[in-house]
Amino acid sequence: MILLIGNWKMAPKKSTEALSLAKKTLEIARKYKKSIKIVSCIPSIHIPFISKTIKNTLYIGGQSVSASTEEAQTGLISAEMLASYGTSHCIVGHSESRERGETDEQVLSSTLLLLQKKITPIICIGEKQRDAQGWYLSTVKSQIESIVLGIPKAQLKKIVFAYEPIWAIGKNAAREATPVECREMLIFIRKVISDIVDIKTANTISILYGGSVNEQNGTSFILEGGANGLLVGRISLDAKRFEQLAKTLSLVS
Ligand code: PEP
Repeated sequence: MILLIGNWKMAPKKSTEALSLAKKTLEIARKYKKSIKIVSCIPSIHIPFISKTIKNTLYIGGQSVSASTEEAQTGLISAEMLASYGTSHCIVGHSESRERGETDEQVLSSTLLLLQKKITPIICIGEKQRDAQGWYLSTVKSQIESIVLGIPKAQLKKIVFAYEPIWAIGKNAAREATPVECREMLIFIRKVISDIVDIKTANTISILYGGSVNEQNGTSFILEGGANGLLVGRISLDAKRFEQLAKTLSLVS
């Protein structure tokens, strides 16, 4: 089963547009449910009414969660709140949240709180840029270590990593990553996990790829890149292109 996560970010702007996109995405999820699990990570303000209208087949996810249960945190939402609306997944450590100050320690705390509430954390990791000497590997290594060292071994199979090279994300991306770059990094990620725990555990953790994925390049990150699924930003807001992507993925799953 391929995991296809749509990250809607701060869109759509209106509640009616959000509901319409959710309904279209639900249709896509129904059509390809035998081979693809689709999760829409939507702005938290849209979660209550969309999760009320959309039930089953399409999974609703959050985009961020507070790293603590302390009530005095203006503007934030807790894992318990997400759980009370039936949210199944939540992105943590997205590069845009890290840019706003989210630390590795907070990513770990959020992950633990989500696991307590039986919400699957989708933990984003990835380097800002690559260098010829390979120093970028140490950035990714320390992001993985801060999570894997802090989670009980039995819980590790419940987390999902999303490798998102920051230089390949969004409309300002320097370029698309190649499937070979994706494969090498996924091997590296599993090796780092395996050195901390063991190979068996490392192999049970799902690792997604994200960064300028579209209906043309999506399958290559699965087939050649070795990813267990995809984290998709812009394309998840365009139901036609998202459906094309789902269709191509269903043919290779
Ligand atoms: C993202 O922001 O997680 C992302 C992958 O965006 P895009 O697909 O638009 O590059």
